[in-house]
Amino acid sequence: MDFVAPHLSDLNPSPRLLLGPGPSMVPPRVLSSMATPLVGHLDPDFLRILADVRRLLQYTFQTKNELTLAISGTGTAGMEAALCNLIEPGDRVLACIQGFFGQRLAELASRHGATVQTLEVPWGQVFDPERIRSALRASPAKLVTLVHAETSTGACQPEIEAIARFVHEAGALLILDVVTSLGGLPVSIDAWDVDVAYSASQKGLSAPPGLAPLTVGPRALQAIQRRSRPPVFYLDLLELQRYWGDPPAYHHTAPISSFYALREALRLVAEEGLPARHQRHLENAERLWNGLEDLGLEMLVPRHLRLPTLSTPRLPSGVEDALLRRRLLDEFGIEIAGGFGPLAGKIWRIGLMGHSSRRENVVLLLAALRELLARS
Ligand SMILES: *Cc1c(COP(=O)(O)O)cnc(C)c1O
Repeated sequence: MDFVAPHLSDLNPSPRLLLGPGPSMVPPRVLSSMATPLVGHLDPDFLRILADVRRLLQYTFQTKNELTLAISGTGTAGMEAALCNLIEPGDRVLACIQGFFGQRLAELASRHGATVQTLEVPWGQVFDPERIRSALRASPAKLVTLVHAETSTGACQPEIEAIARFVHEAGALLILDVVTSLGGLPVSIDAWDVDVAYSASQKGLSAPPGLAPLTVGPRALQAIQRRSRPPVFYLDLLELQRYWGDPPAYHHTAPISSFYALREALRLVAEEGLPARHQRHLENAERLWNGLEDLGLEMLVPRHLRLPTLSTPRLPSGVEDALLRRRLLDEFGIEIAGGFGPLAGKIWRIGLMGHSSRRENVVLLLAALRELLARS
């Protein structure tokens, strides 16, 4: 079949203001870092870049864990790496589900051969740590999976430290999804005593999608070292540890440009400092919440449980979800997302993550929504 390349136009996607659940806006410094000429994945310069990324991730996760790195893949690859390195056939997993991503953890755990027991709260709510404690007492498990920031609902699970204590009391390990919290609200892996946590490059960190930061604590590392059979090769954390080691052992060709970007994005996190960054996210989220209330929109999640990175107003009655979001995109170039599962057609999901969390973005979005709601 003939294919006439000159008929294709230049790459020219529309300019967008990304205020959805990710990807977030990427700062110019991070974008230009990706145009840096390549070096090889075993070049001493690149190994120094990996070492920088590790140190910057340790700061961002607030951990001293030596096994801290970024998986080549999106957040879901981080999720899958956490699960497949710890699950051996027949292991029992307690999956705590507050929304879509908690559900995905349960599904993937089962695909990796675990016997999964689920504990659920209605979408938009969070767990009382005592419920997890009693579930483990009634039925012990090797692993507990939990989402810190549930992007499908906008709710933030509090009391992670108490949950980790109950999990350890029961002799289990805690895997925590911090995809939508890392870089946007406090995450303290060591202080909370979390065993494995993973995130994604494109949400609170504001790098392009493609890398999944991940950290493994001493208990989990021991469990991984004691496995009788290794997990799938590509996500094998002991193999990856050797690649990130000194001297490095080839495992796969790291996506060089993506690592340039992640390093630059993390350098921006360190320059701003975590406390200032968290404060910025909170202030802009509060501006948004107040503005949405002024427009007559109610929020799904009560104030003390809301994520500053992802806000979920309920749709006003009579508004056509898809049509309004289409107009927001076509007329204003702004992306937000709808709800899914039980919340489809009921909420919007508005992200103020990383570089997207700016006062001027909040002002613009509120003005656009005001105009579109008045018309509908
Ligand atoms: C986005 C997200 C993921 C999955 O990340 P991908 O980069 O889309 O693979 C996992 N967990 C949560 C909470 C998320 O928001």
